[in-house]
Amino acid sequence: MAEQRTGLPARVDVFRLADAGKTFSGDLTAKELGRLLPLLANGEGTVHYHLAFYRDAEGRAVARVQLDAQLALICQRCMRAMPFTLAVDTRLAFFTHEVEVKGAEAQYEPVIVAEDTLSLTDTLEDEILLGLPQVAMHAPDACKASTIIDALAEEETPREDDNPFAALAALKQKDTQNSD
Ligand SMILES: [Zn+2]
Repeated sequence: MAEQRTGLPARVDVFRLADAGKTFSGDLTAKELGRLLPLLANGEGTVHYHLAFYRDAEGRAVARVQLDAQLALICQRCMRAMPFTLAVDTRLAFFTHEVEVKGAEAQYEPVIVAEDTLSLTDTLEDEILLGLPQVAMHAPDACKASTIIDALAEEETPREDDNPFAALAALKQKDTQNSD
């Protein structure tokens, strides 16, 4: 049950890790996470992970995954940095065949292990991406874009006195009154 702080092994046999009750803790930098990296405003960030493998009462190979990070995502409205606290605490259950999954979905996120080994970094990155908002966006009152949109909307609403059509309408009305 010794805790390893020397980084994740590249490829692992999750079933053996579950048998051995292995745990891993450490940090992954954004540079190691090729799919997360383009979603970050500053190209920086560190995700702290804690992984604990075990066999549950039914003999399933399970990993509890805990992730914490302070990230700067890109707001999809104003394209500026948006601070986001990632907090994931989930349990993955590993299976070799789809049919074994039956009944496990309520408790676990099922993962089908097609090959003999899998990449823990990839697995953690999947969970990081699942933990992000679908569309990163500031709250309306905190977003630069909403102030810009408000300013534009104000500009586009013509004021009564500098609307040439209003002036024309006033003239027309005058004409009608005169011809009466
Ligand atoms: Zn914004």
